[in-house]
Amino acid sequence: MSEPVIDLHAHTTASDGSDTPRQLVAHAAAAGVDILAVTDHDTTAGWAEAFDEGQQAGVGIVGGIELSAQILDETRSAPPLSVHLLGYLVDPDHAGLRQELETIRSHRDTRLRLMVEQLAADVDISWDEVEARISPGATAGRPHIADVLVDKGVVDTVSEAFVHYLSSDGPYHVPHYAPRLRRAIEIIRDAGGVPVLAHPLSGNRRFAIGDTSSRQAMATVLAEWADWGLVGVEVFHRENSADLVPTLDQAAADVGLIRTGSSDFHGTKKPNRLGEHTTSPDQFEALVARATGMAFVHPASPL
Ligand code: AMP
Ligand code: ZN
Ligand code: FE
Ligand code: FE
Repeated sequence: MSEPVIDLHAHTTASDGSDTPRQLVAHAAAAGVDILAVTDHDTTAGWAEAFDEGQQAGVGIVGGIELSAQILDETRSAPPLSVHLLGYLVDPDHAGLRQELETIRSHRDTRLRLMVEQLAADVDISWDEVEARISPGATAGRPHIADVLVDKGVVDTVSEAFVHYLSSDGPYHVPHYAPRLRRAIEIIRDAGGVPVLAHPLSGNRRFAIGDTSSRQAMATVLAEWADWGLVGVEVFHRENSADLVPTLDQAAADVGLIRTGSSDFHGTKKPNRLGEHTTSPDQFEALVARATGMAFVHPASPL
């Protein structure tokens, strides 16, 4: 039997993906993915439906989350860096986790309304239109505004919306509350989950990891995060610039961190394809072994 295809990062309509959890899992099965993690932003609301479809479609589903977090510049000379922390196999009913998620989501709602208000000064857009694009109870994000801008022909694509209207250093952007990385790691660990830093080299985030040309420098930063309880790093991801990936991979291995790979599939909202990057079975087994919150349940057989 060939190696299982393991994709540990994907979104649904519970946050800013375009597939319902059921559609996502069906697409994963069709794409040849054997094990899929459902990792919506700041919510576990998509899990139940994904588990159900996983049973039907024969796809192993890992319950996960992509928690918003931030890293503050020690010198306070630069704005906070927004980082994403994947948390696998957390107990979704853990009180501390639930409370933190509610706080983040509520700040996200307020922040998105403010962004729409500011945009409305220059563009024909209303909160009602944006709200209509957010599934009930879903985590609200900038891609929901992008959808409306595309629908109304203000821009041609979601990417164009991000360049012209939604970028984090643009005039309409409003930041939202998120815990600092150290606290976010603690929240995931307290909920029994396995914290894995998502796409650490994407965009501005790479500045958090120090001198990316040096394996030693990256290992030093990663070692500090490992001391905080970080268990893994998402090394193989389309937004990690390819020239730096080998060095990141080595630095993470130096520190004993698990190295994952994944698609970060968002359905039609991003070009990412299911299974375009994957996690090796040995790294996945090591990850599952670290979880105390939830078991990984495969519909067919264990690895
Ligand atoms: P937010 O969570 O509201 O800060 O929005 C960030 C989300 O927007 C992330 O999940 C990204 O996947 C998505 N995103 C960021 N930049 C782009 C882009 N250029 N095109 C499409 N989606 C993007
Ligand atoms: Zn997203
Ligand atoms: Fe992310
Ligand atoms: Fe993501």
